[in-house]
Amino acid sequence: MKEYKLGSIVAMKKEHPCGTNEFEVVRLGADIKIKCCKCGRIIMLPRIEFNKKLKKIINI
Ligand SMILES: [Zn+2]
Repeated sequence: MKEYKLGSIVAMKKEHPCGTNEFEVVRLGADIKIKCCKCGRIIMLPRIEFNKKLKKIINI
C-alpha cells in the first residue's frame, strides 16, 4: 500500500505540461488535490485515479 499524507511530495507517472512530475499533496479526501512543484498549478483527482497515476512517494 502506498502511504502519503498532507504535504507529501509525490512523483506521478505522467509529467505536468511544465515538465516536472513532482507534486505536493495539498488536500486529502475522496478527491486528492496536488500542487505542481514547479509551476504551482493545482490538480484535483478522485483518490482512485490518483492511486493509479502515482509513481512513487518522494518525501512522506
Ligand atoms: Zn506544472
